[in-house]
Amino acid sequence: MIPFVDLKAQYTGIKDEVNAAILGVLDTCQFTLGSEVAAFEEEFASYSQAQYGIGVNTGTSALHLALLAAGIGPGDEVITVPFTFVATVAAIYYTGATPVFVDIDPRTFTIDVKAIEAAITDKTKAILPVHLYGQPADMDPILDIAKRHGLVVIEDAAQAHGAEYKGKRVGSIGDMGCFSFYPGKNLGAYGEGGMVVTSNPEYTRTIRMLRDWGAEQKYQHVLKGYNFRLEGIQGAVLRVKLRHLEAWTEARRAAAAHYNELMSDSGVATPEAMPYARHVYHIYAIRTQQRSEWQQALQDKGIQTGIHYPIPVHLLPAYADLGYTQGDFPHSEQAANEVLSLPMFAELSLAQCKEVSKAVTLLANQSMAEPA
Ligand SMILES: *Cc1c(COP(=O)(O)O)cnc(C)c1O
Repeated sequence: MIPFVDLKAQYTGIKDEVNAAILGVLDTCQFTLGSEVAAFEEEFASYSQAQYGIGVNTGTSALHLALLAAGIGPGDEVITVPFTFVATVAAIYYTGATPVFVDIDPRTFTIDVKAIEAAITDKTKAILPVHLYGQPADMDPILDIAKRHGLVVIEDAAQAHGAEYKGKRVGSIGDMGCFSFYPGKNLGAYGEGGMVVTSNPEYTRTIRMLRDWGAEQKYQHVLKGYNFRLEGIQGAVLRVKLRHLEAWTEARRAAAAHYNELMSDSGVATPEAMPYARHVYHIYAIRTQQRSEWQQALQDKGIQTGIHYPIPVHLLPAYADLGYTQGDFPHSEQAANEVLSLPMFAELSLAQCKEVSKAVTLLANQSMAEPA
């Protein structure tokens, strides 16, 4: 069997280091925030080429607090994409602001920068590009538009730890960058976790307060805050894992290169890395118009796949109140119908890549012989 992700294989490789780190936290009893979290904040901010890191309980909270720190609230509009994980949009809602969607570029699965300006109104306060699947959005035009219209740029980098745009790490390109350490992400906690990175000391101060009940010092609550603290055990585990992240990322990139090469003559639509990008392949998604048949046929051969994501957010029942309908974002809708995520994790072997590619190529040949 070839799983979609293999967290057990990763743990096996770092078991002693991780176990020792967890026991260390049990000894100090710094269960929430504390010295391991503080050290991890510094290390991850530095890894992301930003000055400050503020650890929080989830990636969703990172987005939520970054938006609040930027002063976004009721009456404001935030531009993002409908082809993303629902959390991107939920975080905008939590602030009371309204999400305004812009379609994706079908080649990159990230925001179509040519469509952003038409979506700007006098209520627009921020652009929230998503570095979907681990490929950075095209940041230069986004920064240029934001500058001309006085908008804040908040990067959803939940899938893109260590990804680079023109040699610069994501998270540090916009005003703030938001990461998730959900277990299945490229850098995953043993539980939940998230972080905002920024080089702005004011945003840092505000987010530090907001994540811990809005307190400047204990019981001095100057803001209406939240309990969004990162746990000590997660900080300790993430510090250990951060030391392996570059090697794991290179292994993911090597697996993606194998897939590309092995399927190059198959006619399968494999993902395209842009010349500006260091793609970190959180997800390796191919496209097919026979997705359900392919997914079942692969499952029958013991190959697990995923779909990220089957319904774009503008068509989810939960967000029907936004008033969008089928046909509003054709590239997002087509991607949602066609994408199929192949197994992708650092420990994926060349033999496994070959087995998956062979099975997919066979399906592509069959589809060409008898089109749907
Ligand atoms: C995972 C993810 C989030 C949310 O992160 P959590 O840690 O699960 O709250 C936000 N945006 C995107 C694009 C994600 O993939």
